[in-house]
Amino acid sequence: MPWCDDCSKFWNAPSLADGGACPGCGRILVAPRTRVPWHFKLMLAALAIYMVYRIYWLAEWLPKHI
Ligand SMILES: [Zn+2]
Repeated sequence: MPWCDDCSKFWNAPSLADGGACPGCGRILVAPRTRVPWHFKLMLAALAIYMVYRIYWLAEWLPKHI
């Protein structure tokens, strides 16, 4: 729970103003959530494509080896 020194009050996260600011005095209490970097999304997409490829490969390979 974010604490505001200026207001001497605990705020719960949903009641904070935009950007994690205190609704009473506007002081930033919670650092705004950092945006997901594009290369992280790219890595997830590549991982998803790789997994599809591996599943496809397994589906091709498995019937020939049992
Ligand atoms: Zn405050």
